[in-house]
Amino acid sequence: MLGLVTHPSYDIPLKDGHQFPATKFSRLMAILARDGVLDGFVQHNPEPASHADLAVVHCPDYINSVAAGTLSARDLRVLGLPWSDALCNRSFLAPNGTLATARLALAEGLACHAAGGTHHAHFDYGAGYCVFNDLVYAARRLVDEGEASEVLILDCDVHQGDGTARMLAGDDRIFTCSLHCRSNYPARRAVSDLDVEIDKGTGDDGYLAMLMDTLAFLAESGRQPDLVLYDAGVDVHENDRLGHLTLSHAGISTRDEMVIRHFRDQGRAVATVIGGGYGTDIEEVAHRHSLVFRAALAVVTS
Ligand SMILES: [Zn+2]
Repeated sequence: MLGLVTHPSYDIPLKDGHQFPATKFSRLMAILARDGVLDGFVQHNPEPASHADLAVVHCPDYINSVAAGTLSARDLRVLGLPWSDALCNRSFLAPNGTLATARLALAEGLACHAAGGTHHAHFDYGAGYCVFNDLVYAARRLVDEGEASEVLILDCDVHQGDGTARMLAGDDRIFTCSLHCRSNYPARRAVSDLDVEIDKGTGDDGYLAMLMDTLAFLAESGRQPDLVLYDAGVDVHENDRLGHLTLSHAGISTRDEMVIRHFRDQGRAVATVIGGGYGTDIEEVAHRHSLVFRAALAVVTS
């Protein structure tokens, strides 16, 4: 049985028509239950992160502004979400969800988070629907607290993990690798330890070939991460509202299995987060997010 971290408060209350698929988190859990995928997992719920915990990676004034609901109109525009008690609540939960998933992965080899991948959040501001950076938070706490000596963040969301790259610049213990579409948000790119830019319109074969090359490059780099944080963003899908790539369901499943199997074969712990996925049909988006959970089960049962 694999560990799965989730929380009933992960959904974000938004008005109809908002670009962010607000209820995809609960829809994802419903699909996993309906299809029997949850039978292969043990569920865990995170506790909210404290201000002191988050201050390991975020500016205390920014954390206070999120908690108090005093972000400026400009801050909220850059974030792309309206402030609410529920948004605040889930913003303190999800980073600990990714940390809990990472700890389960370190103990058991593989674990999955039914949220996470808020890679556009920066030290002192949120952006692109990302309030706090769960990937940076989890990786930094694990290395700071001696639970891992080296962590690899492999970000396969279609957008560049710019917040992750900037927040971890100069930290040799955490390697950041972002595979993303060359022409997409954010307009101002950061520099990851390894950026792989994929041309607009690329489909399964071209994408998977670049991923294979990237995995081979990482293997040959001599880095020895105890843990891989894998952002399995599904905004690479051909019908995604914000992505410009053309992967199919099968392509995403192959990608996820390839990544998980590759690192497990090397003896690395793997923690997955769902990352981005956008569309007006929330059921369809949630189904795409379910693929990484199915891939994880397929890897451990084959
Ligand atoms: Zn994205």
